[in-house]
Amino acid sequence: MLKTVIFKDIVAQTTKNKVILMKIKIRIEILYFAKLLISALVISLSAQTLGATAQKLNPVDLIVHGRYVVTMAQDNPVIENGAVAVRNGIIVAVGTDREIAAGFSAKREIDGKDRILLPGLINGHTHTAMVLFRGMADDLALMEWLQNYIFPMEAQFVDVEFIEAGMNLACLEMIRGGTTSFVDMYFYANTGADVIESCGLRAILGSPSIDFPSPGFEGWDDSFAAAVDFVKNRKSISGRVIPAFAPHAPYTVSVEHLTQVSKIAKELDAPISIHLSEDRVELALVLDRYNTTPIKHVASLGLLENNLIVAHVVHPTDEEIGLLAKYKVGVIHNPTSNLKTAAGVSPVPKMLSQGVRVGLGTDGAVSNNDLNMWEEIRLAALIHKGVNYDATVMPAEIVMNIATKGGAEAVGLGHLVGDIAIGKRADLIQVDLSGPHMTPLYNVISHLVYAVSSSDVVTTIVDGNILMADGKVLSLDEEIVRQKANEIAARITRALKKNK
Ligand SMILES: [Zn+2]
Repeated sequence: MLKTVIFKDIVAQTTKNKVILMKIKIRIEILYFAKLLISALVISLSAQTLGATAQKLNPVDLIVHGRYVVTMAQDNPVIENGAVAVRNGIIVAVGTDREIAAGFSAKREIDGKDRILLPGLINGHTHTAMVLFRGMADDLALMEWLQNYIFPMEAQFVDVEFIEAGMNLACLEMIRGGTTSFVDMYFYANTGADVIESCGLRAILGSPSIDFPSPGFEGWDDSFAAAVDFVKNRKSISGRVIPAFAPHAPYTVSVEHLTQVSKIAKELDAPISIHLSEDRVELALVLDRYNTTPIKHVASLGLLENNLIVAHVVHPTDEEIGLLAKYKVGVIHNPTSNLKTAAGVSPVPKMLSQGVRVGLGTDGAVSNNDLNMWEEIRLAALIHKGVNYDATVMPAEIVMNIATKGGAEAVGLGHLVGDIAIGKRADLIQVDLSGPHMTPLYNVISHLVYAVSSSDVVTTIVDGNILMADGKVLSLDEEIVRQKANEIAARITRALKKNK
């Protein structure tokens, strides 16, 4: 009996439990479907939102990031955790990582963790192919060096092959060191222009003219005719090569010939690059021949009214500094070269205070002996403090400016490059911050001027084209470039042995 009652109870209980379980199951299923419905709604809404955001994002070719973005712009000099958006080779946006991410989507992004992003450096005066003479004639006075070594070596060895191999080697060195624009004066300008087009850098390329025989030329007439032809007819497909005139100096080019250059450069609206007021021997020669000083001499020929880029200016008078400022002449400071040839120290702080446009340059590799702009930056910051007994002259900000924005303005490229600003060409470099010599970091400009090495440059971009990424040069085959340079060097070594 007890068993029956118990059994009935169990049956009743089981039936009740089944009903409860059924109800629970139904509830769970309702909940499950409700959840699915909600999820679907959420996904659908999210997709719609994402779609709307994606539509809002502006497509660009490249976004480059930087732990610090040193723009060199006056109003917004350094952005922490920033980025730059690039389309068709032009900077279209500059801001924080978040701002750029919210507005732009790129085909390619370059990471900026532990890197400074800044404008590429402007080398305002060099003779790039001379890298093949690197280390051949050191420790000599300027005029002895020039007349007894450089001019004879050039006459014997410089040809098209030399220029091609030398300029490729120079481009490789500049890309590795973060130089994106340079002003060059050397022979076989058409060959030089071909190399610049292929290596991807930007240059004002001067076709040289001089009163006596030089590589490829018998004297002034043919060298000047070639320069006119180069400036008139050399067309740059990329727009990165700007043809220019390059008469050597007032002591190697006559009054008549300098006047010819001045006139035609004005007609063709082409820049002129020239050496000026470099050495005391030059001052003595100009005084002897023309009874004046070098800058006043070329001013009297109308040269300053051109888009003029003058290298050195080590010995200007106060009156001449006034003329350089008045005519907005670009003066290129070459501290290493001036020290090596014992030309002296250019009064750059004084020129800057008088409003002269100053840029920075390495000069050719025989008087330097490399194309490392970071050495010029550091030296420009140090040397004037020493000679003026004043640690406040040439502060780091001013020196960085003459290597970038100020340098671009000095050579007439200020409308295109020199700072990271919307509308400018995307000539950008990244400097690695992970080295012990860059640690710790309190002031980013201080590190760029006083601590950085050229080997810290890991990215080089010109016109939005990546020429070096993560320390690997992409526009040149490094092994082939070095091999060709060594082949020319071996030929020179054999010839020099024969000469003896
Ligand atoms: Zn020079």
